[in-house]
Amino acid sequence: MTKMTTVHRIVNFAPGPAVMPLPVLEEIQRDLVALPGVGMSILEVSHRSKVFESILAQAEADVRTLAGVPSNYRVLFLQGGASLQFSMVPMNLLPPGATADYIDSGRFADNAVKEAKKAGTINVAASTKAEQYSRIPSQADLKLTPGAAYVHMTANNTIEGTESTRLPEVGEVPLVSDTTSNMFSRPLDVARHALIYAGAQKNLGPAGVTLVIIRDDLVARSAERKASLGSMLNYAVLAETNSLYNTPPCFAIYALGLVMKWLVARGGLAAVGQANERKAAKLYAEIDRTGFYRGLARKEDRSVMNVTFRLSTEDLEKAFVKESTAAGLDGLKGHRAAGGMRASIYNAFPEEGVDALVAFMKDFERRHG
Ligand SMILES: *Cc1c(COP(=O)(O)O)cnc(C)c1O
Repeated sequence: MTKMTTVHRIVNFAPGPAVMPLPVLEEIQRDLVALPGVGMSILEVSHRSKVFESILAQAEADVRTLAGVPSNYRVLFLQGGASLQFSMVPMNLLPPGATADYIDSGRFADNAVKEAKKAGTINVAASTKAEQYSRIPSQADLKLTPGAAYVHMTANNTIEGTESTRLPEVGEVPLVSDTTSNMFSRPLDVARHALIYAGAQKNLGPAGVTLVIIRDDLVARSAERKASLGSMLNYAVLAETNSLYNTPPCFAIYALGLVMKWLVARGGLAAVGQANERKAAKLYAEIDRTGFYRGLARKEDRSVMNVTFRLSTEDLEKAFVKESTAAGLDGLKGHRAAGGMRASIYNAFPEEGVDALVAFMKDFERRHG
């Protein structure tokens, strides 16, 4: 691909919306005024046109290829972000009289619990809130409800920097996972889940679209709510209309499709996962090198996507934020609820950016240590 831009881009550690693959941005820029062979911008085409139908179909096909999505799952492109899924999951899948289990592994998981409580009966099966969410609850921690409507988990805790490397054992109970901040960061076993959802703006594309992969039996369960739930909130309606009940976020779906194509071209999720492991390992090695920096997450549960760490005083942390920003390393200040630093290094984040941060950290320690 020819280089369209030579503008200066900073090293962007933002947690989301986050860095996008440069070749994707360049393709969007090149084709924004007129899609090749179409003569119209993606911003101008009808969502009922053949052009958009094929963009949607290709995005779905690439999602299916990348994740090996079995044929008894539907792939949906919805709106409202991951936060709307906090409500839609219980509204569709938690019948009156039933209980849903929630694993409270972080602040977004806690938000999911709060929203679900408005829709039905919730059991918090385990929580690490009292430990500042520094670890993922273990299998032994889980107090699961026999015959629960589903179990809800958060695959990667974006704010705290912890990640589940193993799925909880839940037997026949449907497993629902919020994968917003690590979707497609490595291979995933779709068949062990009943529903997977991810807001796109961290690892999949721009804000405005939410990827939902849902098993047929849960679509059928949601069909029982058709008469009582608004159509835009009902998985069965959205699946029957192939995400086209109303005007979908056409541009965001197009851009997500380009990111999927980029992932396929990089060799798929196994290759992408290896690159992500290498990036994260470099950063954690620097955090652990002398004790000047301190990782926030328990080592076994460290996230490959969001690397959180603190320094010994808040003054030093302020200096770190100020100096790193001045050095062109942007977005390292941690979430206000967790404090310290957070380096978000999603799929599109380049390894050179990690190298630049490691070099900065060594230099900062030399000057302030
Ligand atoms: C960012 C994030 C959310 C919230 O996503 P929205 O799309 O803004 O609603 C939910 N869960 C996790 C794990 C996140 O990282």
